[in-house]
Amino acid sequence: MRKIYLLFVSMIITLSMIACSSNLDVNSNPKVDESSYKSGSNDQNYIELSKVKDNVWVHTSYENYNGNRTPSNGMLVITSEGIVLIDTPWNNGQMKELLKLSKKIFNEEITTAIITHAHVDRIGGIDTLKDNGMDVLSTSQTAQEAEKNGYTKPQPTLNSEQTIVIGNKNFEIFYPGEGHAVDNITVWLPDDKVLFGGCLIKSLESQDLGSVTDANIEQWPLSVEKVLEKYANAETVIPGHGKWGDIELIHHTVELFTK
Ligand SMILES: [Zn+2]
Repeated sequence: MRKIYLLFVSMIITLSMIACSSNLDVNSNPKVDESSYKSGSNDQNYIELSKVKDNVWVHTSYENYNGNRTPSNGMLVITSEGIVLIDTPWNNGQMKELLKLSKKIFNEEITTAIITHAHVDRIGGIDTLKDNGMDVLSTSQTAQEAEKNGYTKPQPTLNSEQTIVIGNKNFEIFYPGEGHAVDNITVWLPDDKVLFGGCLIKSLESQDLGSVTDANIEQWPLSVEKVLEKYANAETVIPGHGKWGDIELIHHTVELFTK
């Protein structure tokens, strides 16, 4: 009996050592065994995480926007030097839940955030990031827009066309011109061929352009064409709202202007 007990104890110790030894490579982290996770009790703190590729995840949160329960997408990229967040959820309650959930799943901290334009569905959780001492980066145009719209300003360190390297991942920033907003940028992950199109790009189920309060309707399709030209080899395209997919999302967005 005692022998069996000892064997059992040593198995537990071995298993827990395996669990602790793979912090950086989440692909072999036994904790990341699902392709989606949910957390939170109601929309004020509810968050979904969906795996897109190894180390590339979409976070989705919901807000009652103009009377409709509206989903919004951002991204988490797991690098060898922490997690990079692309856009916050709608609010700080959701952002706090996302910090907890990502820590629990990946056993890593979010160290850097990139804001793709200064609207609530991109920047609404910025105060939580700042309170936790994280670097929140944007273009100077987005920092100005953030101030104008009453949000805490991100650090205006990004240029309109630039690749930044964080750990083992490259992030290509591209400002194609005005579209959904004056300041909308896209983020390209060349190693994964994933394009985060943000609100410049519409999901296939979108039948219209959505919120156009700050849009430049003449310039928008031209900006989308520039993105298409630059990232024709994209395998995955993530829109600001709704389902992600392939390059068809960019074609669909262009087509919405010819209707
Ligand atoms: Zn927007």
